[in-house]
Amino acid sequence: MNLSTLDKTLIAETWTTRELSTNLETLCDFGSRFAGTPSEVQARDFIAEKFRAYGLDNVHLDPFEYLGWWRGPCALDVVAPRAQSFDAISLVYSPSTPAGGLRAPIVDVGMGTEKEYARKKDALKGKIVLCSSANPEEGRVPHRREKYGWAVDAGAIGFVYARHLPGGLPESGSLRAGKLGEIPAVAVSYETGAALKRLIEKGETIVALDVQNESHPTTAWHVVGEVRGQTDEVIVVGAHYDGHDISQGAMDDASGTCLVLELARVFAPLKGQLRRTLRFIAFACEELGVLGSTGYVEKHRDERQQIALMIQLDGAVGSGRKGFSYSGLDDIEALLKRITKETDYPLKLSDRVVTASDHFPFLMEGVPAIMMFAREQDRALGRGFGHTAMDTLDKVNTRDLHECAMVAARVVLHLAAHPDSIGRHRTPEEIKQILIEQDLEQALRAQGKWKFDQDLTGLGDL
Ligand SMILES: [Zn+2]
Repeated sequence: MNLSTLDKTLIAETWTTRELSTNLETLCDFGSRFAGTPSEVQARDFIAEKFRAYGLDNVHLDPFEYLGWWRGPCALDVVAPRAQSFDAISLVYSPSTPAGGLRAPIVDVGMGTEKEYARKKDALKGKIVLCSSANPEEGRVPHRREKYGWAVDAGAIGFVYARHLPGGLPESGSLRAGKLGEIPAVAVSYETGAALKRLIEKGETIVALDVQNESHPTTAWHVVGEVRGQTDEVIVVGAHYDGHDISQGAMDDASGTCLVLELARVFAPLKGQLRRTLRFIAFACEELGVLGSTGYVEKHRDERQQIALMIQLDGAVGSGRKGFSYSGLDDIEALLKRITKETDYPLKLSDRVVTASDHFPFLMEGVPAIMMFAREQDRALGRGFGHTAMDTLDKVNTRDLHECAMVAARVVLHLAAHPDSIGRHRTPEEIKQILIEQDLEQALRAQGKWKFDQDLTGLGDL
């Protein structure tokens, strides 16, 4: 079959299938699929079964050890100027407070930008920080893990993360990647944040935190399957199947997992017909600080040269213009522009390096890595319902699922069949320069993810 015929087949399949919505329902009905829960295991087995049923080769689980984390009780009480209790939940990887809890004045750092932290730096030692999930109107958007990292660096002893959107919803998320945070941290709703802010404005406010969580080493599993091509060159297509334990994680990221399943389904019959091998991976433990894919890349370092490209579909279902972040890689940008012409589908392209998902560890190793998106970036909205208890099935639009699957399938087809090189692997020095150009050095340092401090000369093209 020629490319144009295959393209039409993929379009027809992705638009007319019922698998997309039934798979989404199944994954959401299991529950959160959070690392270390029974629903994670159910989802793992379901995805592996689907990969086999669709006819993928080499379907297997790729296990790894990591530090598991399970939430326990969490109490946030104002003790002065007057006693008042508030609902709160731990952020992921929050350590427990010492026996009897901890108690300290609470200081408001606004939305917790680097500038705001710098201004309050001397006032934070020994205090509890109140920080909003809001994003600045301009400049880089700091990630939650950075906001937390700066509080730790300033000597704070506790961290309260207040959501910036009304609705009584605390917003979860991890503090560190694969290890406990240094200080206890909790999430509260917008309304609780506003009440705390009002107290702080009136005078010294003392807060007591009592947090009990559990943590010990355990196992998680990536689910992997392949559609063999005519060469050993591999394109990895991935998304994470874990969600947060307070939610169905429908948008983030049952929907992305459904795209991976759908691509597996429509490409399986093309075994041996495309130039490149497609490796489908449902990643585990993304919500623990991109822990799972980071470990995958380390474990499979010997295959790095074989991997021509990593395509990441986390959060790639939405109603906005569909497109790709090409991570500052000019040759990949040129290729995606070419595909835009060939498919006559106006992809939106962005040069932005997104650090908080599963393509980033590949990029850090010099492997070309891109991310699909389908939501307009909205600073005021931020994550929307993402990471809250309301990231539920009803938030995912079926039409969006079909359209995003169609776009992803067409792009993957053209990449897999592309007759020339997809793009150059980059040296550590080149990756470092891309990250510096995108003003990401401080961000990655705050998260303990900057690994370019040793001399990079002589390492060459790893
Ligand atoms: Zn995600």
